[in-house]
Amino acid sequence: MDNNLIYSGKAKDLFKTENENELLVVYKDQATAFNGKRKEIIPGKGVLNCRISTLVFDYLIDNGIETHVIQNISDHEQLIKKTEVIPLEVVLRNRVSGSFAKKFDLIDGETLEEPVIEFYFKSDKLGDPFINDSQVLSLHIATQSEIDFVKQQTLKINKLLIPFFSKANLDLIDFKLEFGRIDDKIILVDEFSPDNCRLWDQTSHNSLDKDIFRQQKGDLVDTYEKVLERIIAE
Ligand code: UDP
Repeated sequence: MDNNLIYSGKAKDLFKTENENELLVVYKDQATAFNGKRKEIIPGKGVLNCRISTLVFDYLIDNGIETHVIQNISDHEQLIKKTEVIPLEVVLRNRVSGSFAKKFDLIDGETLEEPVIEFYFKSDKLGDPFINDSQVLSLHIATQSEIDFVKQQTLKINKLLIPFFSKANLDLIDFKLEFGRIDDKIILVDEFSPDNCRLWDQTSHNSLDKDIFRQQKGDLVDTYEKVLERIIAE
Protein backbone atom coordinates (compact mmCIF):
# COMPACT_ATOMS: atom_id res chain seq x y z
CA MET A 1 0.00 0.00 0.00
CA ASP A 2 1.15 3.54 -0.78
CA ASN A 3 2.41 4.88 2.54
CA ASN A 4 1.16 8.35 1.63
CA LEU A 5 -2.42 7.02 1.75
CA ILE A 6 -4.10 8.52 4.80
CA TYR A 7 -7.72 7.57 4.18
CA SER A 8 -9.49 5.23 1.82
CA GLY A 9 -13.14 6.19 1.43
CA LYS A 10 -15.99 4.62 -0.50
CA ALA A 11 -15.53 6.81 -3.59
CA LYS A 12 -12.20 8.59 -3.00
CA ASP A 13 -8.73 8.02 -1.56
CA LEU A 14 -6.80 10.73 0.26
CA PHE A 15 -3.00 11.04 0.14
CA LYS A 16 -0.40 13.16 1.94
CA THR A 17 1.70 15.47 -0.23
CA GLU A 18 5.09 17.14 0.28
CA ASN A 19 3.18 20.18 1.56
CA GLU A 20 1.67 19.46 4.98
CA ASN A 21 -1.21 21.88 4.29
CA GLU A 22 -2.26 20.14 1.09
CA LEU A 23 -3.72 16.72 0.30
CA LEU A 24 -4.27 14.77 -2.90
CA VAL A 25 -7.75 13.35 -3.60
CA VAL A 26 -8.09 10.47 -6.03
CA TYR A 27 -11.59 9.76 -7.31
CA LYS A 28 -12.17 6.00 -7.56
CA ASP A 29 -14.24 3.88 -9.92
CA GLN A 30 -16.12 2.40 -6.99
CA ALA A 31 -19.83 2.73 -6.31
CA THR A 32 -21.39 1.77 -3.00
CA ALA A 33 -24.93 1.82 -1.69
CA PHE A 34 -26.72 1.01 1.54
CA ASN A 35 -23.80 2.04 3.73
CA GLY A 36 -21.28 0.05 1.73
CA LYS A 37 -23.28 -3.20 1.76
CA ARG A 38 -23.39 -3.13 -2.05
CA LYS A 39 -20.10 -2.36 -3.75
CA GLU A 40 -19.17 -2.39 -7.44
CA ILE A 41 -16.30 -1.23 -9.63
CA ILE A 42 -17.64 0.95 -12.43
CA PRO A 43 -14.89 2.00 -14.89
CA GLY A 44 -15.14 5.71 -15.73
CA LYS A 45 -17.09 6.75 -12.64
CA GLY A 46 -14.13 8.41 -10.90
CA VAL A 47 -13.33 10.68 -13.85
CA LEU A 48 -16.99 11.64 -14.28
CA ASN A 49 -17.47 12.55 -10.61
CA CYS A 50 -14.24 14.54 -10.57
CA ARG A 51 -15.22 16.45 -13.72
CA ILE A 52 -18.79 17.14 -12.56
CA SER A 53 -17.66 18.18 -9.08
CA THR A 54 -15.01 20.46 -10.57
CA LEU A 55 -17.60 22.28 -12.71
CA VAL A 56 -19.98 22.66 -9.75
CA PHE A 57 -17.25 23.82 -7.34
CA ASP A 58 -15.83 26.27 -9.94
CA TYR A 59 -19.29 27.77 -10.34
CA LEU A 60 -19.70 28.05 -6.55
CA ILE A 61 -16.22 29.61 -6.19
CA ASP A 62 -17.10 32.14 -8.92
CA ASN A 63 -20.14 33.01 -6.82
CA GLY A 64 -18.25 33.62 -3.60
CA ILE A 65 -18.35 30.20 -1.90
CA GLU A 66 -14.99 29.21 -0.46
CA THR A 67 -14.01 25.56 -1.07
CA HIS A 68 -11.04 23.30 -0.36
CA VAL A 69 -10.08 22.83 -4.03
CA ILE A 70 -6.65 24.18 -5.05
CA GLN A 71 -6.31 22.66 -8.52
CA ASN A 72 -6.90 19.55 -10.57
CA ILE A 73 -3.85 17.38 -11.21
CA SER A 74 -5.48 15.05 -13.74
CA ASP A 75 -8.99 14.09 -14.82
CA HIS A 76 -9.52 12.18 -11.56
CA GLU A 77 -7.10 13.82 -9.09
CA GLN A 78 -7.33 17.07 -7.17
CA LEU A 79 -5.04 18.97 -4.86
CA ILE A 80 -7.03 20.27 -1.89
CA LYS A 81 -6.44 22.33 1.25
CA LYS A 82 -6.14 20.25 4.40
CA THR A 83 -8.99 21.13 6.76
CA GLU A 84 -10.37 19.76 10.00
CA VAL A 85 -13.46 18.11 8.60
CA ILE A 86 -16.61 18.61 10.70
CA PRO A 87 -18.06 15.08 11.03
CA LEU A 88 -21.52 16.05 9.76
CA GLU A 89 -23.31 15.24 6.54
CA VAL A 90 -25.43 18.28 5.83
CA VAL A 91 -28.46 17.33 3.76
CA LEU A 92 -30.72 19.89 2.10
CA ARG A 93 -34.03 18.87 0.57
CA ASN A 94 -36.10 20.89 -1.90
CA ARG A 95 -38.42 17.99 -2.58
CA VAL A 96 -39.45 14.81 -0.79
CA SER A 97 -37.41 11.75 -1.72
CA GLY A 98 -35.26 8.92 -0.33
CA SER A 99 -35.15 8.50 3.44
CA PHE A 100 -37.43 11.54 4.01
CA ALA A 101 -40.24 9.97 1.94
CA LYS A 102 -39.82 6.67 3.77
CA LYS A 103 -39.54 8.14 7.28
CA PHE A 104 -42.70 10.29 6.99
CA ASP A 105 -44.60 8.10 4.51
CA LEU A 106 -44.74 10.85 1.90
CA ILE A 107 -45.02 10.80 -1.87
CA ASP A 108 -41.74 11.02 -3.76
CA GLY A 109 -41.29 14.36 -5.54
CA GLU A 110 -43.64 16.49 -3.41
CA THR A 111 -42.23 20.05 -3.20
CA LEU A 112 -41.37 21.27 0.31
CA GLU A 113 -42.62 24.77 1.20
CA GLU A 114 -39.17 25.70 2.46
CA PRO A 115 -35.90 23.77 2.02
CA VAL A 116 -35.34 21.28 4.85
CA ILE A 117 -31.85 20.93 6.36
CA GLU A 118 -30.82 17.80 8.26
CA PHE A 119 -27.58 16.73 9.94
CA TYR A 120 -26.21 13.18 10.01
CA PHE A 121 -23.26 12.22 12.21
CA LYS A 122 -20.48 10.86 9.99
CA SER A 123 -19.69 7.42 11.42
CA ASP A 124 -19.42 4.24 9.34
CA LYS A 125 -19.59 2.21 12.55
CA LEU A 126 -22.93 3.77 13.54
CA GLY A 127 -24.27 4.00 9.97
CA ASP A 128 -24.33 7.84 9.87
CA PRO A 129 -27.24 8.41 12.31
CA PHE A 130 -29.50 11.48 12.19
CA ILE A 131 -28.34 14.07 14.75
CA ASN A 132 -30.13 17.22 15.89
CA ASP A 133 -28.62 20.63 16.75
CA SER A 134 -28.81 20.00 20.50
CA GLN A 135 -26.91 16.72 20.12
CA VAL A 136 -24.31 18.43 17.87
CA LEU A 137 -23.72 20.98 20.64
CA SER A 138 -23.74 18.44 23.44
CA LEU A 139 -21.18 16.22 21.70
CA HIS A 140 -19.01 19.28 20.86
CA ILE A 141 -19.17 18.47 17.15
CA ALA A 142 -19.74 22.16 16.33
CA THR A 143 -20.61 25.40 18.12
CA GLN A 144 -23.90 27.25 17.69
CA SER A 145 -22.28 29.87 15.46
CA GLU A 146 -20.72 27.11 13.33
CA ILE A 147 -24.12 25.40 13.01
CA ASP A 148 -25.68 28.72 11.98
CA PHE A 149 -22.94 29.39 9.42
CA VAL A 150 -23.14 25.89 7.93
CA LYS A 151 -26.93 26.17 7.53
CA GLN A 152 -26.65 29.65 6.02
CA GLN A 153 -23.99 28.49 3.51
CA THR A 154 -26.04 25.42 2.61
CA LEU A 155 -29.09 27.59 1.84
CA LYS A 156 -26.90 29.95 -0.20
CA ILE A 157 -25.40 27.04 -2.16
CA ASN A 158 -28.91 25.72 -2.81
CA LYS A 159 -30.01 29.10 -4.19
CA LEU A 160 -27.00 29.08 -6.53
CA LEU A 161 -27.37 25.46 -7.63
CA ILE A 162 -31.12 25.41 -8.39
CA PRO A 163 -30.71 27.71 -11.45
CA PHE A 164 -27.36 26.09 -12.36
CA PHE A 165 -29.03 22.68 -12.77
CA SER A 166 -32.27 24.13 -14.09
CA LYS A 167 -30.38 25.49 -17.11
CA ALA A 168 -29.41 21.88 -17.77
CA ASN A 169 -33.11 20.87 -17.55
CA LEU A 170 -32.48 19.23 -14.18
CA ASP A 171 -34.38 19.65 -10.91
CA LEU A 172 -32.23 19.62 -7.78
CA ILE A 173 -34.27 17.44 -5.42
CA ASP A 174 -31.78 17.11 -2.54
CA PHE A 175 -28.04 17.01 -1.84
CA LYS A 176 -25.41 16.38 0.81
CA LEU A 177 -22.54 18.72 1.71
CA GLU A 178 -19.58 18.57 4.07
CA PHE A 179 -17.63 21.41 5.65
CA GLY A 180 -14.15 21.78 7.18
CA ARG A 181 -12.40 24.25 9.47
CA ILE A 182 -9.31 26.12 8.31
CA ASP A 183 -7.75 29.34 9.71
CA ASP A 184 -10.82 30.26 11.82
CA LYS A 185 -13.05 29.79 8.79
CA ILE A 186 -15.43 27.11 7.61
CA ILE A 187 -15.20 26.13 3.94
CA LEU A 188 -16.96 23.68 1.65
CA VAL A 189 -15.11 20.33 1.33
CA ASP A 190 -15.73 16.90 -0.22
CA GLU A 191 -17.40 16.84 -3.66
CA PHE A 192 -20.65 17.66 -5.45
CA SER A 193 -21.60 14.96 -7.91
CA PRO A 194 -24.61 12.75 -8.76
CA ASP A 195 -23.27 10.43 -6.02
CA ASN A 196 -24.46 12.87 -3.36
CA CYS A 197 -27.42 14.65 -4.84
CA ARG A 198 -30.67 13.83 -6.59
CA LEU A 199 -31.21 15.31 -10.04
CA TRP A 200 -34.40 14.70 -11.97
CA ASP A 201 -34.93 15.47 -15.62
CA GLN A 202 -37.42 18.35 -15.68
CA THR A 203 -39.35 16.84 -18.58
CA SER A 204 -39.40 13.09 -17.90
CA HIS A 205 -38.79 13.27 -14.10
CA ASN A 206 -36.31 10.41 -14.51
CA SER A 207 -33.38 10.22 -12.06
CA LEU A 208 -29.94 11.23 -13.31
CA ASP A 209 -28.05 10.38 -10.11
CA LYS A 210 -26.99 7.52 -7.85
CA ASP A 211 -30.59 6.27 -7.51
CA ILE A 212 -29.83 4.62 -10.88
CA PHE A 213 -27.32 2.44 -9.01
CA ARG A 214 -29.27 2.15 -5.72
CA GLN A 215 -32.41 0.98 -7.51
CA GLN A 216 -30.57 -0.81 -10.36
CA LYS A 217 -32.61 1.06 -12.95
CA GLY A 218 -30.00 1.95 -15.57
CA ASP A 219 -26.37 2.49 -16.49
CA LEU A 220 -24.53 4.75 -14.04
CA VAL A 221 -21.79 5.87 -16.46
CA ASP A 222 -24.30 6.73 -19.23
CA THR A 223 -26.36 8.68 -16.72
CA TYR A 224 -23.46 10.64 -15.19
CA GLU A 225 -22.17 11.37 -18.74
CA LYS A 226 -25.54 12.95 -19.55
CA VAL A 227 -25.28 15.18 -16.46
CA LEU A 228 -21.75 16.24 -17.44
CA GLU A 229 -22.70 16.95 -21.06
CA ARG A 230 -25.67 19.04 -19.99
CA ILE A 231 -23.78 21.18 -17.51
CA ILE A 232 -20.86 21.66 -19.92
CA ALA A 233 -23.36 22.85 -22.55
CA GLU A 234 -24.62 25.66 -20.30
N1 UDP B 1 -26.46 11.27 0.71
C1 UDP B 1 -25.09 11.15 0.57
N2 UDP B 1 -24.39 10.33 1.40
C2 UDP B 1 -25.01 9.60 2.38
C3 UDP B 1 -26.41 9.71 2.52
C4 UDP B 1 -27.11 10.55 1.66
O1 UDP B 1 -24.49 11.79 -0.29
O2 UDP B 1 -24.30 8.89 3.12
C5 UDP B 1 -27.21 12.15 -0.19
C6 UDP B 1 -28.13 11.36 -1.13
O3 UDP B 1 -27.47 11.06 -2.35
C7 UDP B 1 -29.27 12.32 -1.35
C8 UDP B 1 -29.34 13.13 -0.05
O4 UDP B 1 -28.08 12.98 0.58
O5 UDP B 1 -28.99 13.20 -2.41
C9 UDP B 1 -30.43 12.67 0.88
O6 UDP B 1 -30.31 11.29 1.10
P1 UDP B 1 -31.42 10.46 1.91
O7 UDP B 1 -31.39 10.90 3.34
O8 UDP B 1 -32.73 10.56 1.23
O9 UDP B 1 -30.87 9.02 1.97
P2 UDP B 1 -30.85 7.80 0.98
O10 UDP B 1 -32.09 7.82 0.19
O11 UDP B 1 -29.61 8.03 0.20
O12 UDP B 1 -30.76 6.64 1.91
